[in-house]
Amino acid sequence: MEAVTPMQEVLDHINATIGQNPDRGKTASYIPDLANVDLNQFGIAVCLADGREFHAGDALTPFSSQSVSKVFAVALALGKVGDGLWSRVGREPSGLAFDSIMLLERENGRPRNPFINAGAIVTTDTYLAGSTPKEALGGLLRFVRDAAEDSDIHINDAVARGEMETADRNFALAYYMKSHGNLSHDPQLTMGTYCHQCAIDMSCVQLARAGRFLLGGVKGLGPRLVSKTRARRIQALMMTCGHYDGSGDFAFRVGLPGKSGVGGGILAIAPGKASIAVWSPGLNSYGNSKLGTEAMEALAKAQDWSVFN
Ligand code: GLU
Repeated sequence: MEAVTPMQEVLDHINATIGQNPDRGKTASYIPDLANVDLNQFGIAVCLADGREFHAGDALTPFSSQSVSKVFAVALALGKVGDGLWSRVGREPSGLAFDSIMLLERENGRPRNPFINAGAIVTTDTYLAGSTPKEALGGLLRFVRDAAEDSDIHINDAVARGEMETADRNFALAYYMKSHGNLSHDPQLTMGTYCHQCAIDMSCVQLARAGRFLLGGVKGLGPRLVSKTRARRIQALMMTCGHYDGSGDFAFRVGLPGKSGVGGGILAIAPGKASIAVWSPGLNSYGNSKLGTEAMEALAKAQDWSVFN
């Protein structure tokens, strides 16, 4: 039998090779707080189902979770309205950029999935029902903190402000859905909540720990936050829709469900085995972390992790 390289060695190697690659992609440019992040950072963290944890590089540095937060938002919204969410948002990959407006018009204001911006805005609108934005965001933060077993996870106000100031296209999506009766709140309220949701900061270690709620049966992790069926479905969405129009490419290269954000973070799940977070702020042409994707590919290969085994 082939000897298995210890996890810490694998992560150190990934950090020393891929993590130091000079060809790092470009940071998101739409707000200074993302544009000015040091491109030379790279972190990776793994939580195994047996409770062991490993990390390498800048894995303790907080970064903007951006669209990775959509994983937690959809779990919260499903907890609130159950399958009712699917009358407002679909479950199909879009094949288009994260903020595309094109399909919305063709499909009467019902977004393709909860991980493109339009679908995430509807998801936010769903968990906002019956509460103030502050209460709703409090509920989301509670979910993330419970999942990570860490109360030191916060919303970055400067990022939230920057998001709001540059959210013209997201506002357009929100108003368009409102015109189709697919937004329950004033777009200002929903968008304010959405922009704060995107501005949750987490380190790789915090994100990998938070991702354990999808893993199930993790040693030492408290009660399940979502049912097994729901966790499977969220992972199915991550697999098919988690990387925008690069979702097929990520599935092909990595073979694991994952969700990326323009802050350069990726959360991936090796079902039953591990929750993995990687961060490198430079993005590829799809808007997904360039080195993060490469690192996930290398780790999955090294561990022989794939949903297609
Ligand atoms: N805050 C970003 C937006 O809504 C999130 C995009 C992303 O991470 O992909 O434009």
